[in-house]
Amino acid sequence: MANQHLTDDCLFCKIIRGEIPSCKIAETDKSYCFLDINPLSEGHALVIPKFHAEFLHQVPDDILADMLPLAKKVALASGLDASQYNILQNNGPLAHQVVKHVHFHIIPKPDAKQGLQIGWPQQVISQDDLKTTLGRIKEKL
Ligand code: 5GP
Ligand code: ZN
Repeated sequence: MANQHLTDDCLFCKIIRGEIPSCKIAETDKSYCFLDINPLSEGHALVIPKFHAEFLHQVPDDILADMLPLAKKVALASGLDASQYNILQNNGPLAHQVVKHVHFHIIPKPDAKQGLQIGWPQQVISQDDLKTTLGRIKEKL
């Protein structure tokens, strides 16, 4: 399998290898998709790369390119009767990442109560501050 790189002590690597059971929805050569064990709503699924990496930016581009089409397919199926959903991908403990193997959450949003609840603490800033930020980002690209 192209580029597959798993570790011994990672929960999701063990799921990919079948050492820990999971409710598999689908897989490709590069990605694996299964139901979250503690769902935020019915059908909550995870898409993970068959490549152990803690952060999204550490995953090779060809594997990332395989993951989103799978997420799209599963988003349409896992919502069952609901067509609204969130795709969530956390990087680092401050960003709410618990399992240190990259994963996209696909979380059906059947109604206001179930699914992802989002805090959205927007800041009001000046155009000058926006442009300073833009400059900093472009320098590092
Ligand atoms: P994170 O907070 O790291 O973005 O989310 C990790 C997710 O993995 C959580 O939603 C959690 O319920 C799920 N999870 C943790 N351990 C297992 C497991 O052993 N099996 C499955 N299917 N999901 C798990
Ligand atoms: Zn892993």
